[in-house]
Amino acid sequence: MADKIKMKTPLVEMDGDEMTRIIWKMIKDNLLTPYVELNTEYYDLGLKKREETKDQITVDAANATKKYGVAVKCATITPNADRVKEYNLSQMWKSPNGTIRAILDGTVFRSPILVKGITPFIPSWKKPITIARHAYGDVYKNVEMLVDENSKAELVVTDKDGNETRELIHNFDTPGIIQGLHNIDKSIGSFARACFNFALDTKQDLWFATKDTISKKYDHRFKDIFAEIYASEYKDKFEAAGIEYFYTLIDDAVARVVRSEGGYIWACKNYDGDVMSDMVATAFGSLAMMTSVLVSPEGIYEYEAAHGTVQRHYYRYLKGEKTSTNSVATLFAWTGALRKRGELDDTPDLVDFANKLEKATIQTIEDGIMTGDLAALSTLENKQVVDTEAFLLAIKERLEAIL
Ligand code: NAP
Ligand code: MG
Repeated sequence: MADKIKMKTPLVEMDGDEMTRIIWKMIKDNLLTPYVELNTEYYDLGLKKREETKDQITVDAANATKKYGVAVKCATITPNADRVKEYNLSQMWKSPNGTIRAILDGTVFRSPILVKGITPFIPSWKKPITIARHAYGDVYKNVEMLVDENSKAELVVTDKDGNETRELIHNFDTPGIIQGLHNIDKSIGSFARACFNFALDTKQDLWFATKDTISKKYDHRFKDIFAEIYASEYKDKFEAAGIEYFYTLIDDAVARVVRSEGGYIWACKNYDGDVMSDMVATAFGSLAMMTSVLVSPEGIYEYEAAHGTVQRHYYRYLKGEKTSTNSVATLFAWTGALRKRGELDDTPDLVDFANKLEKATIQTIEDGIMTGDLAALSTLENKQVVDTEAFLLAIKERLEAIL
């Protein structure tokens, strides 16, 4: 066999939990290490190691990502009360993704992987729709109160010199509710730059929408910041790349998305992104086919699958039962990271390998060989359900044929 592909710069590898940790190793053993001299800096973000290191390992992994520029992450458990018992945790450690996102100040982009035989519920969608969700503020950092009858609610801002600016919200004759939201120009600017950079990177149009006709200051500020940054930093680059930045109202955007063919990035405010990413993911077919990449404003990339650790399959695996767990999104996290590493390092062999591995994966499913979750959706006639490892081996067969 030909020499293994070499890597110049280490890729930050973040291992994870449960079934996805099992899949992680299977992917490496069967589809990566036989072909690539994997140069990774390994961080074990499995819950056991997070407990042992008091979660320092997560911070170290995020800092390594800052240093090297590209990471690939396995799904990890976000502890809740059950997990504290199950893993005998000293603390309910925070979500690793939250910790990493806070350190990298990134925006998450989610895109579906399309294959023949799995038709989106919206038949006009021919190309992926990537959702970019702002990850700071609005209703996720709100302050809210129940208000008694005969109360006056005001918005009060005190500036650095102690001057107050007041605005009446409502005179409550009867009981009601009130909510205070905020966002920060800097965070909106980082979000805008991450979206513009990702659009250039993937050569797709960028759509952004808010409700600025109703929210003439709050939402309008989002619109203005995007417009200013676009005009001063990106307009020429977009024109050179032949792509477009398009702003509209959120309700108009929803109508256009449904009628569209796909093939663009849809930037959403925090709440809109929460709602629309589930709508888009479901309409495209399966969470196990959604990839996710965190991009920082400086152009640092962290790739992962959008789904979790597939706990129920893991318990079956532990009992020695065969599982049919879909590894596609995890595999595409690896290929995304390797391709990006190859682009940054100018190692076309690595880019080519990542592309071929994706091609082999899609071909496997389109040949009718798939895991149970996809078989339930696929309209192919000759489909054959295989277990977790057999699926990877079927990909390997096709990969060897293309390499
Ligand atoms: P999940 O792991 O995404 O799984 C939910 C269900 O979706 C599974 O039980 C399975 O359904 C189906 N599914 C998801 N991925 C699949 C795949 N690759 N192949 C086949 N079926 C798949 O979500 P969860 O059960 O809510 O969370 C489990 C753990 O993951 C939690 O501890 C949570 O904290 C963590 N989590 C991590 C991340 C992350 O690291 N990014 C994201 C979300 C959740 P069936 O059982 O019906 O087959
Ligand atoms: Mg949600």
